[in-house]
Amino acid sequence: MDVDALIEILSTAAMWLGRSWLRFAIVCGGSFLLFWVVFARRFAHRRCQPGDVERSMHWREFRNSMLGVIFFLTPMTLAAPLVMGGYTQLELDPTATPWWLLIIQFIVVVVAADTWFYFTHRLMHHSRIYAWTHKLHHLADNPSPLSGYAFSWAEGIVLGAFLPLLLLVMPVNVIVLAVFVNLFSLGEAYVHLGYEILPRWLARNPVGKLIGTSVMHSMHHEDGAYNFGVYFTWWDRALGTLHPDYTERYEAVTAQPLFARTRALEQAE
Ligand SMILES: [Zn+2]
Ligand SMILES: [Zn+2]
Repeated sequence: MDVDALIEILSTAAMWLGRSWLRFAIVCGGSFLLFWVVFARRFAHRRCQPGDVERSMHWREFRNSMLGVIFFLTPMTLAAPLVMGGYTQLELDPTATPWWLLIIQFIVVVVAADTWFYFTHRLMHHSRIYAWTHKLHHLADNPSPLSGYAFSWAEGIVLGAFLPLLLLVMPVNVIVLAVFVNLFSLGEAYVHLGYEILPRWLARNPVGKLIGTSVMHSMHHEDGAYNFGVYFTWWDRALGTLHPDYTERYEAVTAQPLFARTRALEQAE
């Protein structure tokens, strides 16, 4: 490899890192500020787990996520020569793929990601490897969005390997990739929000109950024996790892509408 190619790869990796930190700051930092600082009282009735969390824990979550972003990007950086050399199935022309195929690609990517995350996550809970792979992510048993990327080097590499592996086996348009990368951030912020923002009816709706929720992942941080899925509940349901109290807990947390307290405060003023 010549020096110019190496410089191009390193500058691309630096750009990805800058964007990823910015995305973490905006999506996870922004939702933390909204829910844990500015409107904490207004949404208190929707807390997934009651109780105070020490500020020092939030700083640890923040620091671990800033490092986790680097680990998460490592596989993609190592695969950069393949991506930039055209050896993967990434389509770099946004207009080269018909709209209906973009939708199909997106659905396949999300389902594949959920499957990868479920099984690698469950594997990392195995007692032989848990301590050096996934224990760091479980530092907070009552998580906030700042822990969205709190991955050890091992976990970051395992999760981050998903995209380059996918690009080797499946055609993906760059638009689908961009949407998915942002969805990943939003998903990490939401499942670690510590507050439930989705409606109560979701828990028993035949389709809605398949969606992974903040309550579901908060329960996983409480008890690591259940709820390994992120975007969907179907793997947990099919393999018997959905927490037996999940539906009742979800309905208890969402008993009042999200803006119930906002309306009550406005009426009191
Ligand atoms: Zn988590
Ligand atoms: Zn876990």
